[in-house]
Amino acid sequence: MFHTARVRRLTAVLATAAAGALALSALPSNAAEPVETGATSRLAEAFKTAATQYDVPRELLVGIGYAESHLDGHDGLPSQANGYGVMHLASNPANPTMSEAAKLTGLPVEKLAKDPGANVRGAAAVLDAYADKAGLQGAERNDLGKWYAVVAQYSHSADGPTARLYADEVYRIIGLGVGAAGVSTAPVKVSPDRGKYANVAPLGTRTPTSIAAVDYPGAIWNAASTSNYRVGRTAAISTIVIHVTQGSYAGAISWFKNPAAQVSAHYVIRSSDGQVTQMVAEKDTAWHARSANPYTVGIEHEGWVDQPSWFTDAMYRSSAALTRSIADRRGIPKDRAHIRGHNELPDNDHTDPGPNWNWTYYMQLVNGVNPNPPTYNFTTYGSGVRVRSDARLSASIVTTLAGPTQVFVTCQKQGDTVTAEGTSNNWWSKLRDQGGYMTNIYIDHPDAKLPGVPVC
Ligand SMILES: [Zn+2]
Repeated sequence: MFHTARVRRLTAVLATAAAGALALSALPSNAAEPVETGATSRLAEAFKTAATQYDVPRELLVGIGYAESHLDGHDGLPSQANGYGVMHLASNPANPTMSEAAKLTGLPVEKLAKDPGANVRGAAAVLDAYADKAGLQGAERNDLGKWYAVVAQYSHSADGPTARLYADEVYRIIGLGVGAAGVSTAPVKVSPDRGKYANVAPLGTRTPTSIAAVDYPGAIWNAASTSNYRVGRTAAISTIVIHVTQGSYAGAISWFKNPAAQVSAHYVIRSSDGQVTQMVAEKDTAWHARSANPYTVGIEHEGWVDQPSWFTDAMYRSSAALTRSIADRRGIPKDRAHIRGHNELPDNDHTDPGPNWNWTYYMQLVNGVNPNPPTYNFTTYGSGVRVRSDARLSASIVTTLAGPTQVFVTCQKQGDTVTAEGTSNNWWSKLRDQGGYMTNIYIDHPDAKLPGVPVC
């Protein structure tokens, strides 16, 4: 990942903005809800305005934004592939969306990178231009399924399968609906019209060649560009390095396939479900840790250092199983002297995996200890979110979460339906530390029912 300082989260900024509104709209506890948080966020407003101005479906814009950034602009800091903001407007040899957005909107690059509203507007302008070129006109523009090829083009992926990985993820998110950073979309049933991509085998399709290529049976093979690693090793493998991508899974894979990148990792792991892609054989030297490259195996984890919502239990468990396999196969001790963060290596200025990476939990998993649950497993968003004694709107309020809060959800159950900002959901999370239930709408995760959490 890129060198970065710890930054204030956009959601925190939005929550502060929303807190004022809440004071005016707070309802008694037994009122018809759902005003669990304040008014629509500025970011939500930006999506609405950009969708109207450029005739791009709002759900599509939000879906792309969630896939790229979980709707966090990281105060304008670049991704590994030099992409910026909620919509990841990029400036690299394969992806010119930033300069295209500047030309189409007349907005300066600085503003497009740092101002979330401008960033969303810029992406909408680019998508609009691509849709025009694809001949997407009139009523067709309202059909989400017809945008598939435009979404694939927006990713500027290295090849067809990677473009398909990206677009399929965006459509998966659109299907689930989004609730993050004060922005909501309802789940939509949509059949993507994949066009020419229908014949492209999605990544993960196993063939005899791909099965033979991987060192780890659970991995999907997808080779990095040969310009981005060195064949062979000059030292014995002794260390496994934990990275965070600073960008999306599809984006990292595409970047490592781009000959201009001059970087790679052996493995990349997806946040939502822990899917593992292998891009460089362990016998070869991936370029992920400068002078430590010759003796290390690098694992990239999808997400951002400052954004704990990417560090899912599914990703921890999948990564730990991979690390255990590498260590066992290569006789590497399963301890912190040999399983290290990028930030702990000599000759580097990187901060990943950062303070949100739970090393204690991870090392317990690596060592096959049945660990205590992680300290936190989800993050809430919004302000004034009520925690109740039961999964009912009439249940007494136990406490209120002032702003985005890291929580541990012990289990979930169905209760009263809550509708907020266009989304309805009857799943509620039981919070360990607060001793009550909150609606899943304000858990920073797109699924109505949270993955990996048992039913109470
Ligand atoms: Zn790194």
